Amino acid sequence: MLPLIGITSSVDEEKRIRVPAGYAAAVEAAGGIPVVLPVLKPERAPEVLSHLHGLLLSGGVDVDPSYYGEDPLPGLGRITPERDAFELALTRRALEAGVPVLGICRGVQVLNVAAGGTLYQDLASQRERVLKHSQEAPRWHESHTVRVEPGSRLAAILGVTEARVNSFHHQAVREVPSGLRAVAWAPDGVIEAVEAPDHRFVMGLQWHPEEMWRRDRLHLKPFAALVEAAHSLLPR
Ligand code: MN
Repeated sequence: MLPLIGITSSVDEEKRIRVPAGYAAAVEAAGGIPVVLPVLKPERAPEVLSHLHGLLLSGGVDVDPSYYGEDPLPGLGRITPERDAFELALTRRALEAGVPVLGICRGVQVLNVAAGGTLYQDLASQRERVLKHSQEAPRWHESHTVRVEPGSRLAAILGVTEARVNSFHHQAVREVPSGLRAVAWAPDGVIEAVEAPDHRFVMGLQWHPEEMWRRDRLHLKPFAALVEAAHSLLPR
């Protein structure tokens, strides 16, 4: 039996469920069975998670800043209230229930907010001397470097303490709550990854490894770590 990994999705303007296929391909390549989760009512989160062995929070638009106590600044982009409510409920429940979580891009932001942290609503207008984090190069292109904390789980998973990653975000983790810790940074100091030391596997990455692993197998490793952790939830 292979672990089921739920992948969150969005709804487009024509009411179609949307999620880039690269997430499912990466989970499959890592040995899991991907299942796409539609946006449901937040109260469904415990039931949904009871069927899953891992949760992958996918990328997307901005998180509503009201969830971390702020009103919207001019640089805030589009928000999706139903998706925010469902993903935050799923993430909080997964943290309670010990379900492995991998958050990607928006997903690291959802993870950080679910755990009680805050975000930059718009990096370029809220921080000085930031790098270009919204690359215009191809999706797979390694745009900037990240420094990975030696001794972190992420460093153990990747086997390196420096990597080159792609970058498609204008928001970022700001204050990391207790329970999470920052474990990777861009050269401008922007937090690029967090993890929860007290959990089996809870990690968020600001980059998009699902766009990179076909060219560099280093980037399949976070998915493999999620699937490996998910195996511990399988019935014996
Ligand atoms: Mn970046």
